[in-house]
Amino acid sequence: MRRYEDNYKQKGLRKQLVDSIRQKGITDENVLAAINNIPRHYFLDTAFEGIAYEDRAFPIGEGQTISQPYTVAYQTQLLDVKPFEKVLEIGTGSAYQACVLGELKVNLYTIERQKKLFDLVKTFPYKSKYPTIKFFYGDGYEGLPTYAPFDKILVTAAAPAIPEKLLKQLKTGGKMVIPVGAQDVQRMLRITKTGADEYQEDVFDDFSFVPMLTGKKG
Ligand code: SAH
Repeated sequence: MRRYEDNYKQKGLRKQLVDSIRQKGITDENVLAAINNIPRHYFLDTAFEGIAYEDRAFPIGEGQTISQPYTVAYQTQLLDVKPFEKVLEIGTGSAYQACVLGELKVNLYTIERQKKLFDLVKTFPYKSKYPTIKFFYGDGYEGLPTYAPFDKILVTAAAPAIPEKLLKQLKTGGKMVIPVGAQDVQRMLRITKTGADEYQEDVFDDFSFVPMLTGKKG
């Protein structure tokens, strides 16, 4: 059984990481505080513990990655969540981003398509700190029609195009943050649902995510 410990060195490194993310342009103090509060090294294999506070992505198994902290902060800032909002996340992965949203007290529904990653997260003790997160195994392209509509939707994998079904699961006035594009580079978009079938699209910076794939993987 792994022992989870957050020592002074790790807390210090985390503060430096938060400072560097702030310097890169993140201004939302609630988002920065969330990053500062979460021991990112808990989400990584012990082999990466020493470098967990570098601002980069790391492998989490099954060919997937935990996103770079700057990217997590960037997407979370764009999503602009308020406590108790109903939020859908596509791509649970390590659940790091999910816990950042948990820190911000949202009512989170997060979906992962890979059974192995989903099962791993189920046994991760730290997640019990955030009882407002609900975990689902499924295909994010389908969303969660039973629980829709959502105030916000966050996609943490690269979508080749904006998934129609997800747009339909947004409340009017709701927002979706999603990296869209082919293969290597994607553009961060924020879609605001302005009417029953009307959307406004804002375009932000370029990022590189692992692909959003169709269907479940057992
Ligand atoms: N938010 C994660 C980032 C993980 S990387 C974190 O903080 O660690 C993206 C994740 O999206 C991967 O785990 C991948 O398996 C998952 N994914 C890709 N396509 C998906 C889909 N259609 N539905 C649900 N999850 C998907």
